[in-house]
Amino acid sequence: MLFHSTRGGDKDRTFEDILMQGLASDGGLFMPDTWPQVNLNLLRSKSSFIEVAKEIVPLFTSSSFDKEEVINILDNTWHDFSDDDIAPLKHLDDNKAVLELFHGPTAAFKDFGLQLAAAFFNEVLSKNNKTAIILGATSGDTGSAAIDACKNFKSIKTFILIPDGNMSEIQRRQMTTIDEDNVFTLRISGTFDDCQDIVKDAFKERSFLKDDQYLLAVNSINWVRIIGQICYYFYASLKFNNLNEDNNFSVPTGNFGNVFACYAAHKMGLPLNKIIVSVNENDILNRFFTSNDYSKQKVSETVSPSMDISVASNFERLIYDFYCDRDAKICNDFYANFPLDSINLPNNMWAKSTELFLSYAVNDLQTIKAIQEVYESHNYLIDPHTAVASVAVDNLSKQLKNSTLILSTAHPAKFPDSIAEAGIAIKEIPKRLSDVFEKKERTFDFSPDKTAIFNFIANNNF
Ligand SMILES: *Cc1c(COP(=O)(O)O)cnc(C)c1O
Repeated sequence: MLFHSTRGGDKDRTFEDILMQGLASDGGLFMPDTWPQVNLNLLRSKSSFIEVAKEIVPLFTSSSFDKEEVINILDNTWHDFSDDDIAPLKHLDDNKAVLELFHGPTAAFKDFGLQLAAAFFNEVLSKNNKTAIILGATSGDTGSAAIDACKNFKSIKTFILIPDGNMSEIQRRQMTTIDEDNVFTLRISGTFDDCQDIVKDAFKERSFLKDDQYLLAVNSINWVRIIGQICYYFYASLKFNNLNEDNNFSVPTGNFGNVFACYAAHKMGLPLNKIIVSVNENDILNRFFTSNDYSKQKVSETVSPSMDISVASNFERLIYDFYCDRDAKICNDFYANFPLDSINLPNNMWAKSTELFLSYAVNDLQTIKAIQEVYESHNYLIDPHTAVASVAVDNLSKQLKNSTLILSTAHPAKFPDSIAEAGIAIKEIPKRLSDVFEKKERTFDFSPDKTAIFNFIANNNF
């Protein structure tokens, strides 16, 4: 299985190439050359998340690792989960369940993708006797998941830029209380966009790198993260109805990574009715799915901060695969002037959306109210991101057949202010979250000055 770019530039790349490169050199995103098919009957004989993952991950890695190697890696990949099931399902009623993806060490679903990424990064680095710098900007859960996933690998040093902004105190403390000499959290007196611009420049300039050293990206466009997420769609459906019925999945989304993983699973054979694209007031995806308007607007801060985005970077993969039928030239044309010009598909192309997608945009008031209502009617506490997905299901219920699984992407205790706003007292805070209040915060403070930041990385390089 080889990989290519959605814009037609890079071709015939191995799994190792795209793992270590992240974004394609033509600005596009990497895609597998074909959709590998999962043997559903074989999957039905499996009972754990890891067993399912062992059938999925090797379908994408054969160009760089033989199956035995991958099986060994997967035995040690997903670690420090607080629930033996890894991704438990909670039934709300006969045709609605919540897929809990927040039992990993940082209490958000990003542990699934980033622990898999870290495991493969480490494997490639050890094999080749090399080191790597990870550099990322985050306004939410990516930074903590990347730090946690990589902190035990001594061939990796992680530098995360965080803006002054809308993340919760726990989200921030998860990054600032890590006491490891290969982790550096840089607090930037600026916006998330300032941080992202510095990261983009860093990938162009690379001035702080040693010869022969990798600079690794952990943002959600890395294909390996998508692979980690595909696994839980198959696992959830296996547990829910033995892969026998077409379900719906409601996915609270920002960058479209998690939705695209669901779409990918479907292309690989997952029985599926509809994917519900659930967003907050940053509604570029909802505007696309309801009125064919994919245009960038200013970001607003919401109570579901991990979905506060202006454009959805993984969406290009859907444009390329689903709408353009893998014609890189057409995809390239759509993206040539984006985001200056918006993307509006020809109507016959856009009309395909309804085969597979529904979408709904949810405001903060609805979000808080949903936390309240789900708690009252089911005695079950959900976080604001999960609440967005839940509101979408309720509002689209007339258009839904069969059962619906709501993806729960974060533990509610990560967002105590929203839970308090809903008038609920959190009974139990997992130790891994309360612990961050016991530890001392350590940050390196910078203005958005890339020269100073690049010097800092150089001075702290291996
Ligand atoms: C990152 C994140 C999302 C959005 O995921 P995408 O893959 O970017 O759509 C949703 N909820 C939580 C809690 C997150 O951390």
